[in-house]
Amino acid sequence: MRVAVVGAGAAGLMAAAAAASEGAEVTVYERNNMAGKKLLIAGKGRCNFTRDCSVEELVEGFAPNGKFLYSALSAFGPESLCKLMQSLGVDYKVERGKRVFPQSDRAADVRDALLAHAQRAGAAFALNHRITRVETCDGRVVSVVDAAGTRHGVDSVILATGGASYPGTGSTGDGYEMAASLGHTVSKLLPALVPLETVEDWPRSLAGLSLKNVELTLEDGGHDVASEFGEMLFTHFGVGGPIVLSISRKICRALRAEGSTNPGRFAVRIDLKPALDVPTLSARVQRDLAAMSRRQLKNALDALMPKALIEHVIRESGVDDTTPANQITVEQRSALVSALKGLRLEIARTRPLEEAIVTSGGVNTREVHPGTMESRLFRGLFFAGEILDLDAPTGGYNLQAAFSTGRLAGLSAARGGEGREVRRQ
Ligand SMILES: Cc1cc2nc3c(=O)[nH]c(=O)nc-3n(C[C@H](O)[C@H](O)[C@H](O)COP(=O)(O)OP(=O)(O)OC[C@H]3O[C@@H](n4cnc5c(N)ncnc54)[C@H](O)[C@@H]3O)c2cc1C
Repeated sequence: MRVAVVGAGAAGLMAAAAAASEGAEVTVYERNNMAGKKLLIAGKGRCNFTRDCSVEELVEGFAPNGKFLYSALSAFGPESLCKLMQSLGVDYKVERGKRVFPQSDRAADVRDALLAHAQRAGAAFALNHRITRVETCDGRVVSVVDAAGTRHGVDSVILATGGASYPGTGSTGDGYEMAASLGHTVSKLLPALVPLETVEDWPRSLAGLSLKNVELTLEDGGHDVASEFGEMLFTHFGVGGPIVLSISRKICRALRAEGSTNPGRFAVRIDLKPALDVPTLSARVQRDLAAMSRRQLKNALDALMPKALIEHVIRESGVDDTTPANQITVEQRSALVSALKGLRLEIARTRPLEEAIVTSGGVNTREVHPGTMESRLFRGLFFAGEILDLDAPTGGYNLQAAFSTGRLAGLSAARGGEGREVRRQ
């Protein structure tokens, strides 16, 4: 069985190892001069490769299409992946929020281990090979054609070309075009997990400032719809960082459902002191002001927040920043507390797809067998990873899905596809 894997990312590496270990003659075509470029930058170079949770929780994370992943995740879920990593010499650790990382904090260890695993199983790697076309005859795949026009005869093809975000890593969306040209439905490609541009200009002047242990609440049309606790960042266009990416998913979903969103519909509120309730924070502000009684308000709040934020919080409160600390009234203190617990920014738009962590949209999962990852349109054509219309929050969901669908596609392709059961590990 000759299996071509297109793309040596997370899904492609796992697919290649699985297919080769079943005895298939596997060639991995990768357009870059190296495998796993996106894996290397995953999790800020630490690679949050899965999460310590149940299959059900993962499925839920991929709603509304999560059920499609049930077989792939049941056959090879987080526990199996962690066991495999350990057997490949990559110890792991579980951090806050069930996030699983290599013990070494080095994404390269994950990439190197998977590459070596695939090579040991017998997969050959054709680097600097961009596949541009999949050819079929009588309802089944017969060859792939590379950018130089060379035709490679195959029995099966696994399209594991990733999404269309971070194109510098090689995932420029080729797979979507190949799938569409074969007649597969590719739903609209949009960003998921993406930084946000704000209407207000002032965050730009704070670019680079990160806030830890804050709570971010998303408003949709004035109603609170989500909130996240953790770290965020001011940028040259607005806001980014882990909790902004997580919260952006709701905006991306609205974009997907409605095509566009009105400017001003979404806003975020930053609670700079989520651990303190209003009376406790009010007492704390009162103490700080009393200790700085001779200073103007703008010079009396250093202990409460980063210096660069003070003028913006005071402006939000509506209090004159030159007011002496010892003349702040109860009402003004209450306004300051409200601003500290709800610094509000209107969202103008999301950043573009190229800057998203994952792509929302892709090959319609209804046209793919969930038990094998084989196309329902062509025998011998398989899909794995982000090319499928699946996306989930940050936290290890997306890589786990790439690994699980990759393994399932690899085993199925090696065994001849549709209808063959893949055993649980
Ligand atoms: C900055 C960043 C950080 C992330 N961090 C995490 C994280 O910590 N945890 C997590 O779960 N997810 C994370 N993700 C998401 C995760 O990395 C992706 O969902 C995952 O890599 C998808 O795997 P894939 O194999 O489908 O695609 P990719 O990993 O993108 O691999 C696709 C491969 O196909 C190759 N290719 C494309 N077209 C062709 C072609 N025509 N011919 C040959 N080769 C081709 C590409 O060069 C690439 O190597 C992160 C994403 C980004 C951008």
